[in-house]
Amino acid sequence: MLSRYLSPLITGALLIAACAPATPTTPPPAAGNPLRVVATFSVLGDLVKNVGGDAIALTVLVGPDSDSHTYEPSPADSAALAEAQVIVENGIEFESWLDELVTASGTQAARVVAADGLTLREGGEHEEGEEHEGEEHTEGDGHEHGAFDPHVWHNVENAMQMVRNIQAGMSAADPARAATYQANAEAYLRTLTELEAYVVAQAATVPADRRQIVTNHDAFGYFCDAYDFTLVGDVLGTLSTEAAEPSAQELAQLADRVRATGVSVIFTENVMSADVAEALSRETGVKIGGALYTDALTAIGGPADTYEKMIRANIDTVVGALK
Ligand SMILES: [Zn+2]
Repeated sequence: MLSRYLSPLITGALLIAACAPATPTTPPPAAGNPLRVVATFSVLGDLVKNVGGDAIALTVLVGPDSDSHTYEPSPADSAALAEAQVIVENGIEFESWLDELVTASGTQAARVVAADGLTLREGGEHEEGEEHEGEEHTEGDGHEHGAFDPHVWHNVENAMQMVRNIQAGMSAADPARAATYQANAEAYLRTLTELEAYVVAQAATVPADRRQIVTNHDAFGYFCDAYDFTLVGDVLGTLSTEAAEPSAQELAQLADRVRATGVSVIFTENVMSADVAEALSRETGVKIGGALYTDALTAIGGPADTYEKMIRANIDTVVGALK
């Protein structure tokens, strides 16, 4: 007799233990309702859209041609976060404003860090007051970046891992649609596999002595590492677009460096003013090779309104200018 009463008690206790979440999260969407997802910026938003398709209602915080480094959250963003069931972020301190916004919104959404598990490049800069043993710290260079370079998406293989992370995170939050997210992710990963092959093939057409890239802010480190280019722009001394315009002396130093490397082309970016590149071009006589899409997509209908188009446009611009 006892076991008949005990058994449901034990089962109940086990269920409670198994269901207790590590962090508070909202319940999955009711049948027929989309999963409410917030992605922090446009590039990530496109990866999320490809995995979620019609199954999600997506809000992107930092929109097209906008700069995540200097983003100022709006009340509407806080409202979207409060309603969200999943928040997809890049991580690597790219969204330095997100923690505060999440706390202020009171959201119970699950947070998915898209860059989880990626091999990171070291960044050149640290947050103000932060010290790393054995590394040099320059006074006055403080801005909102961590020790690692956050611009992981410029390596297509990284984007593929980000897609898998997004798929896993959305499936955990919305198990009823796990098969949909898996099918969508697999289809998109095939597209990204072709994209990676295209970038590798195009990059291979640039002669070895011309594989050098100078941009305003060093968003192209992962691109250069993955596709065998050299990034020369680090004399600007920042990974962030928040840094002040360089002084005449800094510009002269970068110009010297550019001349010393023999680089023939410098590139501008869609998320920031081309002033520095243009000044450098005037100073050195090297030509401007076009605008690269670094930290944001273009608006819908623009030349880089998806991640795939952004990557294709960038490699085409690089190859066209350097060949
Ligand atoms: Zn950036």
